Amino acid sequence: VRPHKVPLIQSPTPLHRLDRLADQLGLDLWIKRDDLTGFAMGGNKGRKLEYLMAEALGLEAQVIVSCGALQSNFVRQLGAACSRFGLKCAAAVMSLPYEGTVGKPEEGHLTDQGGNALLDRILGVDLRIYPDGTWEDLFAHMEALARQYEEEGAKVYRVPVGGSSPLGAFAFAEAAREIQEQAPPFGAIVCASSSGSTQSGLVYGFRDTATRVIGISCDPEPDLPVEFAALCDGLDDLLGENKKIRPDDFEFHTEWVGAGYGIPSPECLEAIRLLAQTEAIFLDPVYSGKAFAGLLGLAQRGELPDRVLFWHTGGVPALFAADSFFR
Ligand SMILES: *Cc1c(COP(=O)(O)O)cnc(C)c1O
Repeated sequence: VRPHKVPLIQSPTPLHRLDRLADQLGLDLWIKRDDLTGFAMGGNKGRKLEYLMAEALGLEAQVIVSCGALQSNFVRQLGAACSRFGLKCAAAVMSLPYEGTVGKPEEGHLTDQGGNALLDRILGVDLRIYPDGTWEDLFAHMEALARQYEEEGAKVYRVPVGGSSPLGAFAFAEAAREIQEQAPPFGAIVCASSSGSTQSGLVYGFRDTATRVIGISCDPEPDLPVEFAALCDGLDDLLGENKKIRPDDFEFHTEWVGAGYGIPSPECLEAIRLLAQTEAIFLDPVYSGKAFAGLLGLAQRGELPDRVLFWHTGGVPALFAADSFFR
């Protein structure tokens, strides 16, 4: 059985060559514009939400509860999807959730004003802001918030951080087919990777092909591929397949995380400037900027094939909470 979806984004999203950078880097470099989904200022979460919202509507949910950073692109796109279908959206958020094993980074992060936080308020998202803590703390707040709505008698649909359930990953297995229909094969696809359904879905979709899927981590967590493989197991169950993807099957780089999740690194800021000044395309300071810095680093090390696709996952509104980094 194929999962149902509701239409939210304009697909296929545009695909084009980055001519000036291709010349500079000596690569046949292309870009997939999921920043231009045409849905609520773009981003990779629109694809996942087509399937997640279909499930929520099928279960007759009234409230969708999730969580993320205050400048989360997912919460913004989830809030927008809820508006579209007349559902309530509630989200537990922190300015800067962090990895418990690593601790809270010292350096500065995005502002709490403007950017996605502004858009969430315009969308009427029930934003519950908690003091900074670990991701596990944030997940506990999300569960408490979901229970609160249930005690009031609402039918609640819970969505994990970043929309990374097997259904979310399915959206990117489908996106793999979309790109295969749009262009001849790429030697490698480079994307930002965090909660994992983007990279997991692409790895699933490109299984047994000559295309490498390279995830650039936005979190200081080298073990994330263990969770990504579990998402792929969920996809196997969902689709009645048996691909049995293992953590080792993920090409996953943590060299471009910088000081931590949500902290723009110098390489990230430089990558944002470079793409804006050569190709007039904006990256974001939390995900796609780091991913593009990773692409540049891998190119410099000679670790990329000739024909490369950068998957732009969006996030541009977060730039408007990063003003101080560009002064
Ligand atoms: C959420 C997000 C990602 C990471 O995608 P995952 O599926 O969570 O790994 C990358 N880029 C942007 C802009 C995002 O908002």
